[in-house]
Amino acid sequence: MAFKEILGNSLVKKILKKALQKDKVPNSMLFCGPEGVGKKNMALELAKALNCEKNKTDACEECESCGAINKGNFPDVMVISPEKNVIKIDQMRLVKQLSYLKPMRGKRRVFIVIEAEKMNEEAANSLLKILEEPPFFSYIILITHNLYVILPTIKSRCQVLNFLPISKEDIEKTLLERGYEDEKAKIISLLVRGNLKQALSIEWEEIQMKRTQAWQLFISLLKGEKTALFLRNYTSLARTLVKEELGQILEVLASFLRDFILLKGEGDLRLLMNLDYREEIERAAGLLSLEESLDYLTKVDYAIYGLNNNLNVNLLISSFFSNFIGRDYV
Ligand SMILES: [Zn+2]
Repeated sequence: MAFKEILGNSLVKKILKKALQKDKVPNSMLFCGPEGVGKKNMALELAKALNCEKNKTDACEECESCGAINKGNFPDVMVISPEKNVIKIDQMRLVKQLSYLKPMRGKRRVFIVIEAEKMNEEAANSLLKILEEPPFFSYIILITHNLYVILPTIKSRCQVLNFLPISKEDIEKTLLERGYEDEKAKIISLLVRGNLKQALSIEWEEIQMKRTQAWQLFISLLKGEKTALFLRNYTSLARTLVKEELGQILEVLASFLRDFILLKGEGDLRLLMNLDYREEIERAAGLLSLEESLDYLTKVDYAIYGLNNNLNVNLLISSFFSNFIGRDYV
C-alpha cells in the first residue's frame, strides 16, 4: 500500500506529501476522525515514507524498510495500543526513552499511538515534554476518534489533522472491486456511513435486520402509529450508539423514500435501491403521495445532517418524529 492506495481523505494525503517534500513533517501529530476511515493506515504510510530508501514523498513498497514496516518488524516504527482498555504510563515511558535514541535501522523513529484517548492522565502527562520538544528524528502520531476527550495540553502540542468519513461512492467501488454483488455493495455503503472498516466486516444478516427495523418504522410512521417504543429504545441507549444506530436507520429510511419517489414518478424500477423490497414498496404506495414523499425525504435528510453535525440527539429525534407527519409522538 502507498498513499495513493488509501481510500479518501485526499486533503490529509496532500498535506502529508507536501510536508514530506519540504522535509517539514511535524514531529508531534494528532490524527483525528471517525472510526474505520484509515487513520492508522495513513500513519503507517507516513512512517514508511519517512523511512523509505528510494522515495521521498511516498512508500516505494520495494525497499527493505518498506517491506519490514509492512511486516511489522522494523525496529524504529512502533505501534502502541491500549492494554486492557488503558494506555499506561509504562507504555509511554518506553516511547519517551526510545524517542531520544537515534534510529537503529531506519532514518526516523515513528511512534503510532492507537486510541490515544485511552491514555490515563499519568501517561498523557509523561508525554508532554517529548511532544513539546521531540528530537528531530522522532515522530509521534496520536490517533483518536474523539478529539474532545484528548487533554488540551496534549492537543495544543500537536499538529491536528482531521479525517473525514469515506464517501459512499468510494466505499461502493471498493466493495465491487472485492467481488460484492451490485445491490449488496450499494446497501452496505449506505449503511456504514463512511466507515470503510465496518463496510468490509459487517455481516449481511446484521444489515438485513437493520433494514427490517427501518421498514417497520417507516410503515408505522406512514400509518400514524405510535412510535413511543422505538423512541424509548433509542433515547435510553448511550449517546454515541444512538447516533450511529439512528443514523443507519435514517439512511435506510431515506433510501425507502427515494424508492417511493422513483415509483411515484414512474421512473425506471430497475434503479430501485431496495430491489428486494419492491413488492412491499408497491403495496405501501397508496400511503404516500409524491409530494409527501419529497417532503419527508427533505426531513429525513435534515435529520441525518443534524446527526452528522452533532445537534442534540434527543431534540432531533423528537422534532423529527413530530414533524414527520405532523402529529405529536413524544
Ligand atoms: Zn521504500
